[in-house]
Amino acid sequence: MESIVIGAGVGGLSVAALLGKNGHDVTLLEKNLEIGGRARVWKKDGFVFDMGPSWYLMPEVFEHYFEHFERGVKDFYELIRLDPSYRIFFPESTLDISAKLEDNLELFDRLEEDGAEKLQKYLDQAQDKYEYLLDGLMYEDLSGILSMFNPKLMAAGWKLSILSNIDGLTKKYFESERARKILQYSIVFLGGNPKNTPALYSMISHIDFNLGVWYPYGGLGKIVDALESLCNEYNVHIDTGVEVTGLNVEDKKIVSVDTTDGSYEPQVVVSNADYPHSEMDLLPEKYQQYDRDYWESKTIAPSAFVLYLGLNKKIDVLTHHNVILDHDWVQHFEQIFEEPSWPDKPAYYLCCPSKKDDTVAPPGHENIFVTVPISPGIEDTPEIREEYYNKMIKHMEKVIGEPLTDSVVVKRIFSLNDFANDYNAYKGTAVGLTHSFRQSAFFRPRHTSKKVDNLYYTGQYTHPGIGVPMALIASEIVADLVEEDYK
Ligand SMILES: Cc1cc2nc3c(=O)[nH]c(=O)nc-3n(C[C@H](O)[C@H](O)[C@H](O)COP(=O)(O)OP(=O)(O)OC[C@H]3O[C@@H](n4cnc5c(N)ncnc54)[C@H](O)[C@@H]3O)c2cc1C
Repeated sequence: MESIVIGAGVGGLSVAALLGKNGHDVTLLEKNLEIGGRARVWKKDGFVFDMGPSWYLMPEVFEHYFEHFERGVKDFYELIRLDPSYRIFFPESTLDISAKLEDNLELFDRLEEDGAEKLQKYLDQAQDKYEYLLDGLMYEDLSGILSMFNPKLMAAGWKLSILSNIDGLTKKYFESERARKILQYSIVFLGGNPKNTPALYSMISHIDFNLGVWYPYGGLGKIVDALESLCNEYNVHIDTGVEVTGLNVEDKKIVSVDTTDGSYEPQVVVSNADYPHSEMDLLPEKYQQYDRDYWESKTIAPSAFVLYLGLNKKIDVLTHHNVILDHDWVQHFEQIFEEPSWPDKPAYYLCCPSKKDDTVAPPGHENIFVTVPISPGIEDTPEIREEYYNKMIKHMEKVIGEPLTDSVVVKRIFSLNDFANDYNAYKGTAVGLTHSFRQSAFFRPRHTSKKVDNLYYTGQYTHPGIGVPMALIASEIVADLVEEDYK
């Protein structure tokens, strides 16, 4: 069976390998010259930058995926557990979240009375939610409102705190502002506002405190390499620099796929390209299941101001993952979600993989990756970027306590217009759709098209959502759906 996969992000590569293994004759079309999508790698002057993901979480999801090929993670890369897992820079103190639970319990005891006990209880409920979801719902196709009546989900409703939000949940457990922020910050970097993110995502705290924060030696690009090698093994034909320009539909079936380099007549099409682009730009209007009004009504996840910096010196105060929470983040949220503008006092994330990995920077140098969540759809010009760059450098100098400007030997800014141009991202979003109440689980866009029989969707817009592990799970779901439909 001939199948086309549109887009070689983690979603596209992972579904292509699975379809290839299931006997399809797969062609994977990617508009950029490199594969990996948001998880691409950029190399410059001895520095190796992961362009997007830098947190390797939920290691068992990767194992689950590779098991389809009778492989394990260790067949592809060496995984290191980071300790400390990450460092948080608050204005009044710098705190490390350790790989050891007892250290974190002690830390929370220092943050507030009975902090250890409260943290343990909070993590227990987070673990319950995680295990409940992973046990069944995470790997299920929840397309469509009817799946709301899925018996597993109905039974789990109370356990998953479906109707409460993560801000309320952390307030219920903790008094300390710092304790609450430690448990909420990852939601922020995954594109959400804690006040509008279901409490079930508190499972993220189980993921980072209990399951650990890991790092594939050589960088997250190793995941893309692993997926590419599986594609090669199953004869997936990967064509880069080829953009899909149209899907021609007759009688509810795609009959041909137009590209910048000829056309194809596949039986099955899986799109990993950004969902709004696939629907609004590639399909005839009549066959769009989600039209412009639908996307306009959605809360689109933030874009990002991303800096890739090569420094000609080492920075001692940093660890691998650093979260800078120097300001009250309420104003930052408002500037993302309510009154879109460039954040005046941002919360941001700073990754320094050269702390643990000497393959990503020349000796004596530091590889720095900075992300500031910004509102999708705001103005992005070279002048604005440069001004913002200077502002960020100044703030980083304050946080790390030493000058940076003259030590920058490699510099690249990647922001809203690059997300839009490079990935066809709607409004330049970095990660797609937020995980709000109305955009999670069965409310996320479907894996299958209701209007086109041989069209499927994988990737971060679909259930279970944003992140590399989630894209792998989505691909497993889609490969199963294709198998059922075409067995
Ligand atoms: C700055 C940043 C930091 C992140 N940090 C983390 C992290 O630490 N941990 C984590 O797990 N996740 C992280 N994420 C999220 C994670 O990277 C994504 O959720 C995941 O990589 C999405 O994969 P995808 O396959 O759904 O989409 P994409 O990677 O966007 O893949 C889609 C592909 O389709 C291609 N395409 C689009 N239109 C066409 C067309 N018409 N024809 C052909 N090809 C097309 C695009 O070029 C792209 O390659 C981060 C993301 C960003 C941007």
